[in-house]
Amino acid sequence: MAVNRRIVLARRPVGRPRPEDFRLEEVPVPRPGPGEVLVRNLWLSLDPYMRGRMGEGRSYARPVELGEVMVGGTVGQVVEANAPGITAGSFVVGRGGWQEWSVLPAGELRTVDPQAAPLSTALGVLGMPGLTAHVGLRDIARPKPGETLVVAAATGPVGGTVGQLARLAGARVVGIAGGPEKCRLAVERLGFPICLDHRAPDLPGRLRAACPDGIDVYWENVGGGVLEAVLPLLNDFARVPVCGLVAWYNATEPPPGPDRLPALLRLVLTRRLLVQGFIVSDRPEGDFRAEVGALVRDGRLAWLEDVREGLEAAPTALAGLLEGENRGKLLIRLAPLPTA
Ligand code: NDP
Repeated sequence: MAVNRRIVLARRPVGRPRPEDFRLEEVPVPRPGPGEVLVRNLWLSLDPYMRGRMGEGRSYARPVELGEVMVGGTVGQVVEANAPGITAGSFVVGRGGWQEWSVLPAGELRTVDPQAAPLSTALGVLGMPGLTAHVGLRDIARPKPGETLVVAAATGPVGGTVGQLARLAGARVVGIAGGPEKCRLAVERLGFPICLDHRAPDLPGRLRAACPDGIDVYWENVGGGVLEAVLPLLNDFARVPVCGLVAWYNATEPPPGPDRLPALLRLVLTRRLLVQGFIVSDRPEGDFRAEVGALVRDGRLAWLEDVREGLEAAPTALAGLLEGENRGKLLIRLAPLPTA
């Protein structure tokens, strides 16, 4: 009998996720019921939101239960289809989770063409993170030519796409990333005109020098020290799409020091800031696929990938993602890609 290897949540982490928080299991490959499809997963996406799903607190999505397969986006090949309109051999993107085989409702799958772009991009620049960048810019950030936009996690799939799309819209883009190597990648591979290392001393001073006209859009990916450096530089009517707060995802207690909440809200009021949280799945895709697909095809939008091999690499890779150890979109290769 064919075996499905899968990783379930074994324990709710405290702070940084540890290997003991996960359990690798071997179970029989499931069979598809009516309207369902059996998929051999090829790529698993690792994303910061997974840390939130491992906790019990109220959020925009329900937590993963103990003993349940970890959630995750996947690209795979259909092996058996019990549904009309989908054929064995086709490639699909869906939410297959941390496992080598998945049975999924056909209605939740999207077919992808491996000739149009590498399959892995369906989890990155042409998938959920790319869509996040597109809808947040379209609906909230709305950068205008000549405005200054600052984005951290600049080599990741969200930040890298935000920076490039904003530059194409005519904005002056300042990237922020962790370490000199990532900053070099942001400039040389993703076309950021400038990228500041948030781990080097005096980020506030260097950011002030890089933004002589202040900041019109701060794309919030991280929180933490980057947010503190950005706040004094925000211009009147600046927009702050709150996309993620990865610096705090592993936090077990509030940051030290005085309560900064009154000062923050005073800034929101006096500078008339638009600070808006958003979740990509709430928003219509619009022309994302046509627009970003064309930019990728024409070579005008670049991306970075960081590929780890095999399902068992996922727990350590996710823990590293939350601390900046990835260099671009973090992916697990679950199986060799089929040759034509
Ligand atoms: P990335 O691949 O960019 O990985 C996260 C990065 O965060 C790390 O590589 C690291 O980059 C950075 N980081 C971690 N800790 C810190 C810190 N203390 N200070 C500054 N930066 C830090 O992730 P994604 O592109 O997938 O996601 C980016 C953000 O977007 C996340 O917050 C994520 O939760 C959010 N998101 C939100 C969505 C929504 O619908 N709202 C949808 C998708 C993503 P570096 O080493 O360069 O600092």
